[in-house]
Amino acid sequence: MPESVRVRFAPSPTGHLHIGGARTAIYNWAFARRHGGAFVLRIDDTDPERSTEENTRAILSALRWLGIDWDEGPEVDGAYGPYFQTQRRASYDAALARLKESGAIYPCFCTPETLAAKRETSRQAGGFSGYDRTCLGLDGATVAARLASGEPHAWRLRVPDDHGDIVFVDAVRGKTTFGIDAMDDFVVARSDGSPTYNFATVIDDVEMAITHVIRGDDHLSNTPRQILVFEALDATVPVFAHLSMIWGPDGKRLSKRHGATSVEAYRELGYLPEALVNYLALLGWSLDDKTTVIDRATLTGSFSLDRVSKNPAVFDAEKLEWLNGVYLRELPAEDFVDRMVPWLVDAGLLSADEVAAMRSWLVELAPLVSERVKRLDELASKVAFFFADTVAIEESARAKVLETEGVREALDAVAEVLDALPDFSPAAIEQALRAVPETTGLKPKIVFQAVRVAVSGSTVSPPLFESLALLGKERSLDRIRAAVSSLAQ
Ligand code: GLU
Repeated sequence: MPESVRVRFAPSPTGHLHIGGARTAIYNWAFARRHGGAFVLRIDDTDPERSTEENTRAILSALRWLGIDWDEGPEVDGAYGPYFQTQRRASYDAALARLKESGAIYPCFCTPETLAAKRETSRQAGGFSGYDRTCLGLDGATVAARLASGEPHAWRLRVPDDHGDIVFVDAVRGKTTFGIDAMDDFVVARSDGSPTYNFATVIDDVEMAITHVIRGDDHLSNTPRQILVFEALDATVPVFAHLSMIWGPDGKRLSKRHGATSVEAYRELGYLPEALVNYLALLGWSLDDKTTVIDRATLTGSFSLDRVSKNPAVFDAEKLEWLNGVYLRELPAEDFVDRMVPWLVDAGLLSADEVAAMRSWLVELAPLVSERVKRLDELASKVAFFFADTVAIEESARAKVLETEGVREALDAVAEVLDALPDFSPAAIEQALRAVPETTGLKPKIVFQAVRVAVSGSTVSPPLFESLALLGKERSLDRIRAAVSSLAQ
């Protein structure tokens, strides 16, 4: 391991943060933390048509929400900035000047039309479709004259004639070889002077002293070209680690067809950032052959590239949901309240300024629901009855439960025993309700269910006795009595 590990995550702000990108960020971050190195965030915003500031903001906010903190990059800066490619043009120009000087690049005056025609001809002949080096063959005087006349030109990297195949040891995939015959002299700067991705990225990686490039294997085919640029610059080639793609259950690359794919969408669906980080961390990396729940400290203390799988990982939405449920159940009540409150406020069940006064009540509510949801977005509907002035009873619950023979009398008796309770605790409520059936002849299950429907409006609710206690005596009795009178003939 080099003395000081420096890794980067370099998203293009052409969309929101995809969960594949988030996984790449997590691996880079965990790797940096594990080795006490630096995690750099660089924004590859060179595509002017598709990059937007709004997307950059969304990416930063998704990373912050996940708890993936960067040591250098937007908003935090650092000694190797700027961290936006659009602000780094001077570096690219300087590198181009150096390579012009050394002869590692040459100008190409071929027009896009000429190039397209050449490609078509070689395609039809079934031959090599790379650049045929027309402009490398121009003599010095011609080149100088054409440059002086201002003729539009790109710059191509000259692949050294004596270069052997490009071989590198990928930290995930092992020894990887690209035949040199398939490498043509590729463009490093376009005719408007702007650098291509393969060029800008290498300049940035060199100047930012990146030691390990950990990224998706959709970039694998760029790597040999980038290695040629490192070599042309006489720079140390970093260690590459290419991560396999994430697949949907159908074996195709994960996309919108498979459901939510952005981090933001998972946030809106009520996932906890720690559950998502845990899930994504283990989607392609493993601690051992059994661990499924792993906290951040273990992740950042144990992450290693040699346990990253070469095989594509299959995204399993159900497993993620299960894991989220595990995290929700394990949250301390106070913490659960903090996560729950925004959802209740959004649903209009309470207003933000009521929260402080209701805090201890909310802390009591937490364990009644934390066991019963897998996502935070399920909460509001489950607890709405606590906040309503009156409950609307579901039609099916009314027909199935309240209209059962004897229920009206049982609820009457329930109201009476509950009214008489000096202590409205769950245990006292339970004891009182269990005594009711003896007087009405209905099974306890039916009586409990009737009380549940009367106070919550539904046959499914958090635990009954605790819910009644939390609702309070007065409100419980009001609801039970309202149900009774709605049943009165
Ligand atoms: N901007 C590139 C992307 O988002 C980064 C590629 C790289 O990591 O080199 O795919």
